[in-house]
Amino acid sequence: MENIIEIKDLNFSYRDSEGNLYPALHDINLSFGRGTYTAILGHNGSGKSTLAKLINMVLTRDDGQIDGTIRVLGKEITGEMTDDDAYDIQCRIGMVHQNPDNQIVATTVEEDVAFGPENLGKDPAEIRRIVTETLAAVGMEGHEKSAPHRLSGGQKQRIAVAGVLAMQPECIIFDESTAMLDPQGRDAIMKTIDELHKRGDVTIITITHYMNEATDADRVIVLDHGGVFMDGTPEEIFSQVEALHSVSLDVPQVTELFYELKKAGRYDGELPLHTDEGAQALANLLRIKR
Ligand code: ADP
Ligand code: MG
Repeated sequence: MENIIEIKDLNFSYRDSEGNLYPALHDINLSFGRGTYTAILGHNGSGKSTLAKLINMVLTRDDGQIDGTIRVLGKEITGEMTDDDAYDIQCRIGMVHQNPDNQIVATTVEEDVAFGPENLGKDPAEIRRIVTETLAAVGMEGHEKSAPHRLSGGQKQRIAVAGVLAMQPECIIFDESTAMLDPQGRDAIMKTIDELHKRGDVTIITITHYMNEATDADRVIVLDHGGVFMDGTPEEIFSQVEALHSVSLDVPQVTELFYELKKAGRYDGELPLHTDEGAQALANLLRIKR
């Protein structure tokens, strides 16, 4: 599988105006295959956003000291880069932030979604097609003429996602994009991510606080104090309940429940990650038909 992102021996420190350095990431070695779906977990300040911003060049040598290399789409972005090259990377590696208000730029939904492709110089017919397609992809068709600021938080975030999709990026990083949403809004974003993943061509990285969102990914990376603490499948990561607790992270509630039962000697199977698996395991335990 082709790696869309390759990070080797990366160390990064923020630099303030007096030249003082503040270490944020150390000894990072990670690669991301094209079309994969990875969740990044870690408590506040563990370096998740810093890593994401380095990958899509929101952070560069101007912001701090970078040692090691990051290759994105075959290009070493930690070396000398022209502004055009940097812009190209930002178009191809999209990012959805926590607060949709910071990402919405226009006064109608369709203008907002058209903004990116217009900047890329696409022709009007193509732009109309992209707007229609991306609004359908996020379940917001019919809202073309709506004013974004009048939409709910969840709908606004879906417009922000559509704006990123409209750039037809090869990778999208969601940096706590569901954190400000109600459960319904969160579900809508998760459904969009799931459908994107099924399409298979877009590489997805989600940074989240919600363990239930991480269980949907193919791979989970746990950061702690600026380093990689764990890297594996959701099953491998969430079976290590104590290790996750040691870095102030939880496991999904259903996993915690069966972990407690296991500790008490009442259960000896695999720890379930999803509610339906938990229900089945419980039915088996109680010897009832489900
Ligand atoms: P996370 O997204 O996991 O909460 P961040 O990547 O935002 O973590 O932060 C990682 C570390 O870098 C933290 O110690 C944080 O205080 C520090 N940091 C973040 N932004 C800056 C900045 N602009 N200047 C100095 N230090 C920063
Ligand atoms: Mg962050």
